Amino acid sequence: MTARPQYVIEHLEDLDVDSPSTFPQWALLEYTHMLELVGSGSTVHFTSLSPRNIDSLRTLLTSSSSSSSAGRANFELHTQGILSLIESVNVPLEQVCLLDPKGPLPVSSNDAPRETAAQDGTTTAKQEGFRFFLFGGILGDDPPRDRTAILRQMGFPGRHLGPVQMTTDTAVGVTKRVVEDGMLMGLDDEPQRQGAQKIKWVQYPELKFGRGESVEMPFRYMVDPVRSEKSGTDEPLMPEGMRELIKRDLDRSFEF
Ligand code: SAH
Repeated sequence: MTARPQYVIEHLEDLDVDSPSTFPQWALLEYTHMLELVGSGSTVHFTSLSPRNIDSLRTLLTSSSSSSSAGRANFELHTQGILSLIESVNVPLEQVCLLDPKGPLPVSSNDAPRETAAQDGTTTAKQEGFRFFLFGGILGDDPPRDRTAILRQMGFPGRHLGPVQMTTDTAVGVTKRVVEDGMLMGLDDEPQRQGAQKIKWVQYPELKFGRGESVEMPFRYMVDPVRSEKSGTDEPLMPEGMRELIKRDLDRSFEF
């Protein structure tokens, strides 16, 4: 049984913070959500962190996970970047898949890590698929500035998740559901499979805050079945607390 793939978020945002209280809330909410989306039994690595970020993030993720760490993936925090991380665990570059909006192929269940027995029975089994799935730790900007290029130029094989930008936590969740749960994204260039469940999307959702206040998010999200059930419309799957954070930022931006 081949081990589950692991997920790596390479910090590309300049987040050097002084303490847990100054760690950006959006990053903490997204990172916590990634651990929930990957689920227990696998690991999410956060790389290229400053030593202070590591202290803050460990404090925050450990305290926040005290409530419901049960169904969450493990996490590891690194000052080293992806290249030195994979060298330290002897994973070759070609077994690391970069999720890249400009990737040549859509990610698929064929990308899951697996060992194929050697044909001639003498040499060792061959590793196929990807052992790591790599994402840019970037706060999505609109229009995208293609900062994922920083990772692309390192030469990783790339896969895309469709033409619309996602937040990093959504990208992690979609990758896990396609690669590990065998779901399809419903894209034209995706290998079709009979009977496979399709991911349901919400694109550019408008978050309504009452009093005529609303904000349109420039991303594609998976549908949140629980919230959608309650509201009767397709609601985006977002980190717990993210709507409240966006509302607070909206209020602040109106203060002048
Ligand atoms: N605006 C950023 C991307 C933010 S999304 C930029 O300028 O590149 C953060 C990360 O999520 C990306 O680095 C990529 O790893 C992943 N991601 C987001 N949308 C994606 C898509 N449609 N296809 C593949 N990866 C995607």
